Amino acid sequence: MRVRFWGTRGSIATPGPDTVRFGGNTACIEVTTDAGACFIFDCGTGARALGASLMAHAPKPISATILLSHTHWDHIQGFPFFAPLFGPGNRITVCGPEGSGRSLREVLSGQMEFTYFPIEIGQLPATITFQELGEGTHEIGGARIIAQYLHHPAMTLGYRIEADGAAVVYLCDHEPFSETFWHDSPAAGHAESIVHDGDRRHARFMAGAGLVIHDGQYTPEEYPSKKNWGHSTYEYAVGMAAAAGVRQLVLTHHDPIHDDAFVEEVEKRACGYARQRGYNVQVCCAFEGQDLAIEPHGVPQLTPPVPHSGRDTLQSRRILVVDDDPDIRALANKALSQDGHIVTEAGSGREALALIDKQAPDLLVLDLLMPVQGGLDVLKILRSRPATAALPVVVLTAMDDEVTTRASFEFGATDYLTKPFSIPQLAARVRACLARTGSDVT
Ligand SMILES: [Zn+2]
Ligand SMILES: [Zn+2]
Repeated sequence: MRVRFWGTRGSIATPGPDTVRFGGNTACIEVTTDAGACFIFDCGTGARALGASLMAHAPKPISATILLSHTHWDHIQGFPFFAPLFGPGNRITVCGPEGSGRSLREVLSGQMEFTYFPIEIGQLPATITFQELGEGTHEIGGARIIAQYLHHPAMTLGYRIEADGAAVVYLCDHEPFSETFWHDSPAAGHAESIVHDGDRRHARFMAGAGLVIHDGQYTPEEYPSKKNWGHSTYEYAVGMAAAAGVRQLVLTHHDPIHDDAFVEEVEKRACGYARQRGYNVQVCCAFEGQDLAIEPHGVPQLTPPVPHSGRDTLQSRRILVVDDDPDIRALANKALSQDGHIVTEAGSGREALALIDKQAPDLLVLDLLMPVQGGLDVLKILRSRPATAALPVVVLTAMDDEVTTRASFEFGATDYLTKPFSIPQLAARVRACLARTGSDVT
């Protein structure tokens, strides 16, 4: 496989004299297999130059598969300027996560409405097909593509392409599930030492990859004020890649306020961090025009832990929100009602257990610290009863310490989210949880 970077910037295009080295175009990466299949990770403004290059050099008619992580602007703004869409006979497949509220076609059409753009999507001469993906394995363009949800305030997919005896993994617009990565520092750097199940799943998704392209938007100093914005630090990306036995890590989605000198410093610090910990992973920051050949490295095929359930992530479900704080209940209720779910509330563990018996909810959002009966108690009781042993439970708590996080997973929490949280973040986590558990509507 060959990998070429056409857009490395996050959030908004940042052209100018200060971003010449690493580039100002937003997310777009071309992956070409030895057989000539063309995959494109995201369609930010970098897609304009990629499109021009394909028109000039690719065999005609052009055939390409766009794998969108999600549809935030910086990942789709290059789409209307992607020249192969204007060539009759070209075949472009656009894949992206299901469950964003509208179909992929509708979302991409939205930014091409007459108010914003002179040509509507239906007027494009190429044959465009849309494929909405959930988690799991998909055979696309002769390659094995595995998709897994990331942690971002939108439904966002990471992709793993397995072809030519190698694996290339794209994990952009993702932030750590937990601020504490490892059980304790001597055990750092191993998948089994990762505190949060979500981060462990994230590391396993990269297992043995020849190349991982990872979100590295913030420095560790910047991250605390940007928590819940959906992006990572280089320390997290390096640590997870090392735990997964990754050969090469390329950090991307550079912050718009980071000029070339700053990104260069990030690269130095990331390399130093890996070296200092004895991690055997090569690290650099992505730059526009970077071209990498990924040699076959005998990577084992990844078995995704959860096959795609094939269920509609936006199907209305019954959700019970359990928290003694009425403001938190109201916020969670708003986040989940917006997705069409039927939400009920309980102000204590005891009230929750009574309601669960009556209402048989499809998912529980559960606080831990509540008077009388705490969340861990409720979780233990639920797991001991056959009717609720597999009920998805998203813990939502202010407790962000390692011990409570681990205890919750040991007691059977499905996911663990800390306060403060944002409405889109909770909605996305619940959608991912429901898609994974494939809970039946009864
Ligand atoms: Zn982005
Ligand atoms: Zn985003």
